[in-house]
Amino acid sequence: MVDTQKINMVDLYGQYLDIKDEVQAGFEEVFQSCWFINGPAVKEFSKELGAYLSVSHVTPCGNGTDALQIALMALDLKPGDEIITTAFTFVATAEVIALLGLKPIFVDIDAKTFNIDVDKIEAAITPKTKCIIPVHLYGQSADMEKIMEIAERHNLAVVEDNAQAIGADYTFSNGKVCKTGAMGHIGCTSFYPSKNLGAYGDAGAVFSNDANLGEKIHVMANHGQREKYASDEIGVNSRLDSFQAVVLRAKLKKLDDYIAARQKAADFYDRAFANHPKIQVPYRAANSTHVFHQYTLIIDGDRDALKNELQEKGIPSMIYYPIPLHLQKAYQQYGYKMGDLPITEQLSKQVISLPMHTELGEDQLSYISETFLQCLV
Ligand SMILES: *Cc1c(COP(=O)(O)O)cnc(C)c1O
Repeated sequence: MVDTQKINMVDLYGQYLDIKDEVQAGFEEVFQSCWFINGPAVKEFSKELGAYLSVSHVTPCGNGTDALQIALMALDLKPGDEIITTAFTFVATAEVIALLGLKPIFVDIDAKTFNIDVDKIEAAITPKTKCIIPVHLYGQSADMEKIMEIAERHNLAVVEDNAQAIGADYTFSNGKVCKTGAMGHIGCTSFYPSKNLGAYGDAGAVFSNDANLGEKIHVMANHGQREKYASDEIGVNSRLDSFQAVVLRAKLKKLDDYIAARQKAADFYDRAFANHPKIQVPYRAANSTHVFHQYTLIIDGDRDALKNELQEKGIPSMIYYPIPLHLQKAYQQYGYKMGDLPITEQLSKQVISLPMHTELGEDQLSYISETFLQCLV
């Protein structure tokens, strides 16, 4: 049983109580049918997710990392091709590039949004560049209008890493509104339990509005097979199981409520920290809603000491991400060094993420923000 008094970084128990009957009935159906993989719930969930995001092709898969890998595998790239992304993200984004023998090209981030700095993309493009992977970090869209313009001009594919922003809306300058993940050539997401739409185990999805890409993605996730036991390409095995689909169907119906609860908590924090000389609250871009996968502050002061003090007072916090990818040991082969991405490097020393989930009450939010302010001075 979860201690609801205790402050958690993520708290999934309240959501479970709310969807318990539907989930348990759905699980029972799976047990009765013994259709554990790709059962009816998986097909229904794929349709519902496609409708929610306005994408025509959805391939559910094993996790968000697989989703990114499958997306790149669907693009017919050659070893050595270059993929532009940021170093201020979870390692999976660059890992799949490296695993496929492609080359990650890290572009610095915008100091306000934490997302790829669109003004620095074109300088990083070479004849080998094939794709841009914007990461909608912490729950807010990268500047997709500019990214799509650049991609079109240079004939590049765009694969959105939407693991943290599912449900966010981006508004183009002509007024058109799109969900993140539905604007690039391919969108990828993770349903890791702590994500805004989280399963009760590993899960992910790849989606596209392009019929050819949609078909290729489906094939690549299924051993490269168009027909059973006939592999046209070298693919992978990555599937969503029926139990996870039951959970995701129940939660997708509530996703907008979950987002509203996160935004309410973020608004509370914003008010508590407004105009503090040492704190920058999350920037809210005019062209994107923020679904607050993380509530991340930029602080001026001894961040690590602050984190320890908060911990002593029962408040968990996290650093997303302490070591930028270009400085990670495993990525040294790509030739980056300290100083190459100054904004990324600076922010990795200043960010701190506070508890953010759908169950935060005002008493907890008050305690967290008051304690945070006391510890910061
Ligand atoms: C969580 C996450 C992933 C990977 O998802 P998994 O389901 O854990 O494999 C990829 N990119 C970003 C930005 C993430 O936050």
